[in-house]
Amino acid sequence: LDPRPIERRTLTTCGFCGVGCSLEVAARDNGIATVRPVDDGGVNRGHACVKGRFSHGFVTSPERLTAPLVRRGGSLEPASWEETIGFVAGRLAEHRGTEPDSFALISSARATNEENYLAQKFARAVMGTNNVDNCARVCHAPSAAGLAATFGLGGGTNPFDDLDRCDTVLLVGANPTHAHPVVGSRLFQRVVDGARLVVVDPRRTLLARHADVHLRPRPGTNVALFHGLAHVLVRDGLADTGFLETHTTGFDDLQELLRDYPPERASAITGVPARDLESAARLYGNSRAPMIFYGLGVTEHRHGTDGVRALANLALLGGAVGPGSGGGINPLRGQNNVQGACDMGAMPDALPGYQKVLDDGARARFSEAWGTGISPRPGLRIPQMFDAARSGTLKALWAIGEDVLATGADSSSVEAALEACPLVICNDLFLSATARMADVVFPVAAWLEKDGTFVNFDRRFQRVRPAVRPPAGVRTDFEVLHAVAAAMGADLGCPTPEAALAECAELAPLFAGISHQRLDQAGALHWPCTSAESPGTPRLYRERFATPDGLAHLAVRPYLPPGEETDGDFPFLLITGRRGEHYNTGSMTRRTGNLALLPQETLDIDAADAASFGLRNGDPVQLTSRHGRAVLPARITDDVEPGQLFAGFHFPGAGVNNLTSAVVDEATGCPEYKLTAVRIRPA
Ligand code: SF4
Repeated sequence: LDPRPIERRTLTTCGFCGVGCSLEVAARDNGIATVRPVDDGGVNRGHACVKGRFSHGFVTSPERLTAPLVRRGGSLEPASWEETIGFVAGRLAEHRGTEPDSFALISSARATNEENYLAQKFARAVMGTNNVDNCARVCHAPSAAGLAATFGLGGGTNPFDDLDRCDTVLLVGANPTHAHPVVGSRLFQRVVDGARLVVVDPRRTLLARHADVHLRPRPGTNVALFHGLAHVLVRDGLADTGFLETHTTGFDDLQELLRDYPPERASAITGVPARDLESAARLYGNSRAPMIFYGLGVTEHRHGTDGVRALANLALLGGAVGPGSGGGINPLRGQNNVQGACDMGAMPDALPGYQKVLDDGARARFSEAWGTGISPRPGLRIPQMFDAARSGTLKALWAIGEDVLATGADSSSVEAALEACPLVICNDLFLSATARMADVVFPVAAWLEKDGTFVNFDRRFQRVRPAVRPPAGVRTDFEVLHAVAAAMGADLGCPTPEAALAECAELAPLFAGISHQRLDQAGALHWPCTSAESPGTPRLYRERFATPDGLAHLAVRPYLPPGEETDGDFPFLLITGRRGEHYNTGSMTRRTGNLALLPQETLDIDAADAASFGLRNGDPVQLTSRHGRAVLPARITDDVEPGQLFAGFHFPGAGVNNLTSAVVDEATGCPEYKLTAVRIRPA
């Protein structure tokens, strides 16, 4: 133990998963000594997981980038800040004005709200394009689209503490024990305390092992399963028709559609036994206050937005959401501040606060405030940016905190896009896979070194405060954006993070009452928070829905097959996802003691499947999909069904995203990470 005294204690918010745990960081000599979870009324109630509590060593990793890098003669070489800013500004100025849509910016949850606000302002006001997107595109874009289409707003409906009021949890396509551990443990405790639990997941997760009913649909068949459950609710009189007639549209059309999804047909499509489906529907339908939580197992599909909307139908049919309801429907956002990145308008079709680019009035307000015109053309989504780069129309791409090469599906096509793009700029802590291919790399600060705010999965604005100073030579994304704009002769205004959130609050009514000062004085606030007097809105839709007509819009969309199917050549289905020890591409957690907890990626495989190939635990397995190859050591487990496989994506070197396909959700462009047809053999 280090006997030296702690010099400083800082309250901040965990920058890993979407739970957004409140943490106290103790520091000495500008190094982190300890991280302690605190109970300040936040989701974590004084708890934290192995990531938030112990994964801070990356901050002082010798691999941190501490000087800008510029590609010269084929290799990245250190350069001064002045030279690098000047170079980037000069190159971007070539596109500004004449061909603004040849530039695109990818922002991310690694950036604070204030940085996301500035990033989208840079794209729109300085470069003149709506080509700005964020990492939600590859995770919960279908949630934002699907929930907004049904209810009017793209966020979850409840504060997480409402878990304690519900009597039944329907957990779909999520493994919070690993991906959102504090939520996972609170869910588990709620079940111990008497709540009923229905889990929908192809894998036998920890919570599935404790569920009253566990439904294991074939990957890609969610919509048919949700329709099958809805069919039983309507057939058995478990839907509140009075509520539906008063507060929704589309019920008649939905009933017509649901006639095609009796349990027997839903069973034939999904592989879920009809009797289990009926049990789950009755358990859910008879509950007083059902709460739905769902994850990427719903969204990361070819029909992910249809899945969200069919699940929202279930929420309405079961009385989970809306006036008089006791439950809710809540997406478990993967990263902290992926919600905020969307809220701040780092989206190709929406300005801050979900004001549409196509809305003349909204554009006029931003134009007046920013003193510049806003393009009326919605911009490119991330997959479309890659298409444009490969076709030669995208000539400059700036990725802020998102390692697109490691995270993008069908990574060989992402690599081709980066190769084809004449200018790739990357902001990162480390020389990531994307940074290695970039022309310019800016070394930037980590969440433990930043000032600003995050928004967690339940729409809660929380303060982020610098616990330590960044290493010498490192700047924040906020400072880099300002410096490049200034070198281009533009003034982004809002010189501080506090001023940036204040400007956003002035322009986005959803956040009008939120400021650093209020958050510092009164603690977290849930949006919508429309005035300085508003206490925020932890619970949505208590009086009416947020659609223009005040009604929820039931979706009437049939089940459609996924983008990939197994066949004789590719007989296994690979599911990708997260593991508890690491976070996303692992760039932070692999540079901490967490590496000892999970030193490599594995391939989860059923015992009978392993035996049929003569595989034992640890044996290398070669996977081949229609898109690429990877080799992973086998981990024999009953977590997965025969014929299905699972791998995490925390070790980019393992090449799991070499395997995944370029199929995307038709409504939002979110990749279909959750199923890839593969074949295997001993390597
Ligand atoms: Fe909390 Fe998630 Fe951070 Fe773990 S990773 S401490 S659950 S916010």
